[in-house]
Amino acid sequence: ARKYVFQKQFEGLPKETDLKLVEEELPPIKDGEFLAEAVFLSVDPYMRAYAPQLPLGSTFIGSQVAKVIESKNSSFPVGQYIVGNSFGWRTHTISDGKPTQAGQLTAWLIPDPEGLPLSYSLGVLGMPGNTAYFGFLEICRPKSGETVVVTGAAGAVGSIVGQIAKIKGCTVIGIAGSEEKGKWLVDELKFDRFINYKDKDFEKKLKAATPKGVDCYFDNVGGEISTQIINRMNKFGRISVCGSISGYNDKEKARGMRFWWHPVQNYYFFTFLAGAVQFAVVSQQLKMEGFIVHRWLDRWFEGIKQNKQWIKEGKLKYRESVTEGFDNMFKAFVDMLQGGNTGKAIVKV
Ligand code: NDP
Repeated sequence: ARKYVFQKQFEGLPKETDLKLVEEELPPIKDGEFLAEAVFLSVDPYMRAYAPQLPLGSTFIGSQVAKVIESKNSSFPVGQYIVGNSFGWRTHTISDGKPTQAGQLTAWLIPDPEGLPLSYSLGVLGMPGNTAYFGFLEICRPKSGETVVVTGAAGAVGSIVGQIAKIKGCTVIGIAGSEEKGKWLVDELKFDRFINYKDKDFEKKLKAATPKGVDCYFDNVGGEISTQIINRMNKFGRISVCGSISGYNDKEKARGMRFWWHPVQNYYFFTFLAGAVQFAVVSQQLKMEGFIVHRWLDRWFEGIKQNKQWIKEGKLKYRESVTEGFDNMFKAFVDMLQGGNTGKAIVKV
């Protein structure tokens, strides 16, 4: 068996030497346990965001699709494909499948994929799909005819949010980092408009693309782009704060409010941050709510079922950026953090 061990805390963009690929000998399985072999592994932004809380020396976090290859647990028979939710970056895992202390399932059988690829369980029919489904519908509560803006629009979560917004009859503006991604969003996913956030005329283009203002904003990125969007919002608009990837690899931004203690410009930074979105939030009476997708664990399979239904009806399109080889996990991870993926980034063992 092989696994990646967290060696050194990330500073800025992760470096290959921060993780170490090691061999390990696994013990024989005991009663109630099973051994699973990884088939697909996921690389996700949360791995970067949560890294500061991970103990050094631990196996690096992540979920995978795996096949049960040995079993002394009748709920996980040999040959079954499962989602190993907290297995981490490892080729082989021994598990008893029991929930963790936080009540999260560590592994579950993949519900009948009905002909769809098993890897979808790491994307549209898994955590990112549910993030889009619940995080958008429950928090933004979109109404037909409204204008929806989504950032990180060509990624795993954002591309699904925009399509669900279209299903709900909204006008959708997607924001992402390349013209090629924009073409995919508009031509294939039928987003109404696309803006590249790297465009120097972003603010002007945002105004032109949202003549009726913005009713719902699904925020995957945070930072200056989000501030500009929030300042375009209509009265009683709703903001679903999903992530802030624009700051994950940036030491200063990631610290957020600690900017307050800047020794010299202390006061300047305080007023800048405090005023960036609060004026719009108050004057337009906006509702801004953060969430973690596990809030909806009790409805987990409802989200998967609905997204699967939409795929089968041709209403939800889905794309993956696949990296081959367990040895390329790190490359796939850093590539994703820098926008190398369109749709869900995964690794095929
Ligand atoms: P994506 O598939 O969207 O991949 C990450 C993307 O982020 C890249 O492709 C890149 O696209 C974009 N990106 C990188 N740097 C920047 C930057 N500086 N500014 C703007 N965009 C940037 O990942 P996911 O769909 O898995 O995750 C999207 C967001 O959702 C993340 O913030 C993540 O943390 C969050 N999330 C939150 C969950 C929750 O429970 N709250 C659950 C799952 C995800 P581009 O080319 O456009 O720059």
